[in-house]
Amino acid sequence: MEERPRILIIEDEPAIADTLIYALSTEGFAPEWCATGRAGLAAMAAKTFAFVVLDVGLPDGTGFEVCKQIRVHSAVPVLFLTARNTELDRVLGLELGGDDYLVKPFSPRELTARVKAILRRTQNGAGPAPEKPTGEFVIDEERCLICYRGTALELTRYEYRLLKALATKPGRVFSRDQLMTAGWEDPGASLDRTVDAHIKTLRAKLRAITPGEDPIRTHRGLGYAVREAR
Ligand code: CA
Repeated sequence: MEERPRILIIEDEPAIADTLIYALSTEGFAPEWCATGRAGLAAMAAKTFAFVVLDVGLPDGTGFEVCKQIRVHSAVPVLFLTARNTELDRVLGLELGGDDYLVKPFSPRELTARVKAILRRTQNGAGPAPEKPTGEFVIDEERCLICYRGTALELTRYEYRLLKALATKPGRVFSRDQLMTAGWEDPGASLDRTVDAHIKTLRAKLRAITPGEDPIRTHRGLGYAVREAR
């Protein structure tokens, strides 16, 4: 039989914790309860959890702080429970790496529905994967090959290295210095503009595949980025 997904509940109010434990057990999960942030983090260090339900108001700090600690080591989905229905709570919570939130009082059914929806979403591979290239670019490191929209690009060594750096982290802006370091064994020997020259030839090769489109963005004064997949 398949193991029940373990869910960590970090919540200081025993009545709420009891309700959650009951609701989640009924839905086929294996909930575990901790009443403080510190106990919750200790539990996470000892075991792997599929999901964390995290109260914002804890006796030893805020749930946001706990989430920050969790995010240092883990991408586990986190759902905040908050007593304060303010935009700020929501924004703060989601910026600190939460996946969703519920405002107290909430129905146990609502909570289990959210947990299931988030697990479905994150387990389908739609979760955050910052190191993965966009769908536009597929990088085959063994063969030093990059495909753009399904077409293999014929690249020079430097073009390959520059595009690999950019396409591995779509949306991230790389300075010329960073690209130089990514592309050249001895960056000091080249001029700054060398990066620009290779970006230019790269763009020409990409445009040959998708005329009128340029997946590489120039950020004036900063550097270059590959656009994020839509
Ligand atoms: Ca509380």
